[in-house]
Amino acid sequence: MKPGTSLNSRLVFSHLLVSLVSIIMISVFAGSAIFNAAIKDVENNLEDLAYSTSNALELPLYQYSMGQNDLPTINNILNRLLSKHPDVNYTLYKPDGTPILDNSGVLPAPATQNNDPEIWNALQSDLGEADQVRTGANGERMFFVAVRIQRENDLVAVLRLNTPLSSTFLAARNALGLLALVGLLVALSVSLFGWILATNISGPIQNLTKTAERLAGGDMSARVTPSGPQELHRLAEVFNTMAGRLQDHVDELRAFVANASHELRTPLTVVKLRTEALRNGAMEEPVVAEQFLEEIESEVDRLGRMVNDLLDLSRMEAGLISKKRSLINMGTIATEVYETFSSRAARAGLKLILDIEPDLPMMMGNEDQLRRVLYNFVDNAIKFTPRDGEIDVYLRSGRKGKTVRVLVKDTGPGITTEDLPHIFERFYRVEATRPRYGTTKGSGLGMAIAKSIVENHGGKIGVSSQVGKGSTFWAEIPTHT
Ligand code: ADP
Repeated sequence: MKPGTSLNSRLVFSHLLVSLVSIIMISVFAGSAIFNAAIKDVENNLEDLAYSTSNALELPLYQYSMGQNDLPTINNILNRLLSKHPDVNYTLYKPDGTPILDNSGVLPAPATQNNDPEIWNALQSDLGEADQVRTGANGERMFFVAVRIQRENDLVAVLRLNTPLSSTFLAARNALGLLALVGLLVALSVSLFGWILATNISGPIQNLTKTAERLAGGDMSARVTPSGPQELHRLAEVFNTMAGRLQDHVDELRAFVANASHELRTPLTVVKLRTEALRNGAMEEPVVAEQFLEEIESEVDRLGRMVNDLLDLSRMEAGLISKKRSLINMGTIATEVYETFSSRAARAGLKLILDIEPDLPMMMGNEDQLRRVLYNFVDNAIKFTPRDGEIDVYLRSGRKGKTVRVLVKDTGPGITTEDLPHIFERFYRVEATRPRYGTTKGSGLGMAIAKSIVENHGGKIGVSSQVGKGSTFWAEIPTHT
């Protein structure tokens, strides 16, 4: 069958083929069995008749051979004995093959071995009986039976009975025709069954294909109604889950692009406005000009940081983050970060404390990436904690040395329960929704990056906070992933 043929026609064709082949085989075997059984039936009946008739003729024929009886009497006996069998013809032969009586009244030619083999065989056989199927004088297929008639040990005659097989053949043919008809009906029913089966399978597949086409065409809401056999039902469910995820991804991507362009546009607008102002006269006032130039510089810096962060984040989310791992000591990394920030913390009037557990286990990880997590935590803590506050950096071993926990606790403004679930989302900035927090010029990407890194290390990240008291950002990373 062609590879492009539909499931429906394949199943219908195969069911039809299988059933037709079996029906033909059954018909051939059953046909010959029916014909053989029918002929066997004729044979049994005719033999019984031949034996009973020959028994009845034994004495009259003996008497005839002794000259005590005549042929018309024997003929009458024969006619009486066979009166209930109008289809049966008889011929009586002398032991030398000379015919003496025939039901037609016309005697046939004397029996020869060629023309009347059953007579010859009956004379020769031990059983005294022989039969044969052959075409009779009238051109019809006939069944012939010949039996010897003996009185004591004396052979007195041979009786031959024959009957046409046409009615037998007709009955057998009718039975076979009926069988073929039933077979054909079975074949059609089986094909219908195949068609129903195929529709049951191909229907859901077609639905799936149509839905997949709609999805491919951009209709993200396209879903399929699960139907059909268990496996296809499951496939449809999995397909819908996949479509759902795809839709979520596309929505997320759209939101990301919208947020990114919005976030990029803000510093650009500031740069544009300040440049225009400078050109329109602010240049003439050195103090104002200096302030505007500083603003431009800081916005350009911010833009640069944001573009870098965005690039890093998209690389991480695309799975392009480096998977390089080495044996590292988080204590050393924390000390480096501490040193980086200590003077800035001091300038901001903040106490920065580093507390490392003495037996902190070494761990497998990417040093640069994990430094960045800690850097972002401490950077935020310093950024958001007001003067005279305190920032504590704790390093602890967790789960019997199987993880390392990093905690950065500050005495900053805290985060409301409303904002908490969103802190690790891209571009989320509390100050963007609540101006009283002031602008920190952050990109809103730092925590998203930290989350991506920690998750890439098989770890977990989180934050607990109380408004007015402070926040604790934490990450728990397995020592070996
Ligand atoms: P940003 O670049 O704005 O700091 P982050 O992703 O690092 O972006 O942080 C997201 C937001 O979470 C911040 O804008 C801020 O609103 C809030 N946040 C982060 N750290 C702290 C903290 N220590 N105290 C209070 N708010 C914080």
